Amino acid sequence: MLTILTGEDNKILRTPAKPVVNFDEKLADTVDLMVATMLNPDGQDVTGIGLAAPQVGITEQIIIVTLNVNTKKDPKIVVMMNPEILEASEATTNYEEGCLSLPGAYGRVTRPAKVKVKWQNINGNWCEKKFDKWDARIFLHEYDHLIGKMFVDYLSHKERAKLKDQGKL
Ligand code: ZN
Repeated sequence: MLTILTGEDNKILRTPAKPVVNFDEKLADTVDLMVATMLNPDGQDVTGIGLAAPQVGITEQIIIVTLNVNTKKDPKIVVMMNPEILEASEATTNYEEGCLSLPGAYGRVTRPAKVKVKWQNINGNWCEKKFDKWDARIFLHEYDHLIGKMFVDYLSHKERAKLKDQGKL
């Protein structure tokens, strides 16, 4: 199991991640550990629905996204290396988010409702897909981690101050 870094000022969480170059056994091992950590985060009473490598101290462009959250379909875990946003809708949605790196902090974030993205799978092959609803939101939240961004960056000064007062930031 890997340790999840926490805190909005954590330097690694704020460092842009480097592209994955080697699609080897070491990458497969890292991904397996990341999935296990996301599903059973140490010391936290929630199960993650997404995780980005910087959250476990690895500054490489690897994210895990759980698809079909809040739908009747079975959840599906997708591992993405070097993800890119090809298109983002002008239409947005606004929902409450949390983050394994900010335990106890929640806030509403406005994001594009639909995105078209591409990424490399575990074998290095490029994949392309359109996401909407929670698929899009979770992808965008994890993608942000790769550029050193966290969901609280989208909150107002007042909302952040409230979380700080509550000891959640
Ligand atoms: Zn997060």
